[in-house]
Amino acid sequence: MAAYLHKECKLRLFCTDIPPTSIIITFHNEARSTLLRTIRSILNRTPMHLIQEIILVDDFSNDPDDCKLLINLPKVKCLRNTERQGLVRSRIRGASIAQGYTLTFLDSHCEVNKDWLQPLLHRVNEDSTRVVCPVIDIIHLDTFNYIESASELRGGFDWSLHFQWEQLTPKQKAQRLDITDPIRTPIISGGLFVIQKSWFNHLGKYDTEMDIWGGENFEISFRVWMCGGSLEIIPCSRVGHVFRKKHPYVFPDGNANTYIKNTKRTAEVWMDEYKQYYYAAQPFALDRPFGNIESRVKLRKNLHCESFKWYLEKVYPELRIPKDASIQKGKIRQRQKCLETKKETNHEIPKLTLSPCIKPKGEDASAQQWTMTGSRIEHVASHLCLDMDMFGEGAEVDREIVVNPCESSLMSQHWDIVSS
Ligand code: UDP
Ligand code: MN
Repeated sequence: MAAYLHKECKLRLFCTDIPPTSIIITFHNEARSTLLRTIRSILNRTPMHLIQEIILVDDFSNDPDDCKLLINLPKVKCLRNTERQGLVRSRIRGASIAQGYTLTFLDSHCEVNKDWLQPLLHRVNEDSTRVVCPVIDIIHLDTFNYIESASELRGGFDWSLHFQWEQLTPKQKAQRLDITDPIRTPIISGGLFVIQKSWFNHLGKYDTEMDIWGGENFEISFRVWMCGGSLEIIPCSRVGHVFRKKHPYVFPDGNANTYIKNTKRTAEVWMDEYKQYYYAAQPFALDRPFGNIESRVKLRKNLHCESFKWYLEKVYPELRIPKDASIQKGKIRQRQKCLETKKETNHEIPKLTLSPCIKPKGEDASAQQWTMTGSRIEHVASHLCLDMDMFGEGAEVDREIVVNPCESSLMSQHWDIVSS
């Protein structure tokens, strides 16, 4: 594979006289070939004196040999969980035995590029409150080719707490004097970053009540910024990562429930009054259990962290605050009948009907539950939105009220309540 470094990076001198780092890789049922590719690329492309150790945390994969066989490689250590912990508790376990000055977290399906580590360690060595990420290149899902990704991107998100890559604004681009300058990012994308070990511990590691996958990148990003640190993407460091369309592993509580629990914990601990916009975007989160957050609230207080308002003003002013975050929940009634969905065999999308609002015992009442957030009316049980379908052409055109997958850009899904 080719090395995609800016030629300017070659001219930039990175200090290599820095204390070694502990590389921590957690995995659950990772393919042996991709796991080996990750480790081989590290061993081939990193000056040995910068690696304290490579700590693998096998998160109770089906085959214990996946990890065991790898300890024959230099520097590699292996820990195996006796039950599935999820990536947060696994990373913490790896960090707890780390001997290096910094922690370098990686996913188990990466290929580090030439000279990837020095620029990261250099930045953290200068200022231990910086948490830094490489530019993440793409390892193609089908061909496993290494593909260069755009390098002037940073991490962003919407109010439903979904991560997205964002272009830098023209102003941000203009402020960067050199394309090798670090890019300040409101949020990190996930599991590829370097943090100084004592800073990681001081800041409260991770939220150990977060399960399996998801949301932890929001929690650690808000925490780092609000409690005195910063997040940066370093253009002279590149690591390839396999971006997958779907998780190749099981979520014992279901994918959506786990994501909601983890992001809800983040919103409740870190987002102050702005959590209302999260709930407006994710109304289902309102009723979901999310465990006890006392210790994380206490942590925030003890660290004397800034408010979420401060974060929005100083770190992410580009995130628009919605005009309307009202949420209404209930039934939609016409006389004695209520709007509900009826699943028909052979059809994925249910039909809309009116049926008696009072249901006989034993019949599912949730088919009549709707939430209105902003101008969208969403069916609680199916997560579908009230919409208009058009049939026919020209003068013959006919419209029908239906439910369809929610799509905020569709004007046919916008509704207003008008008081009569
Ligand atoms: N992982 C883990 N335990 C889990 C789920 C994930 O150790 O229960 C590992 C996974 O093998 C990977 C890392 O955590 O190395 C991040 O997960 P994944 O790559 O699925 O997340 P994505 O990159 O898609 O955000
Ligand atoms: Mn991954």
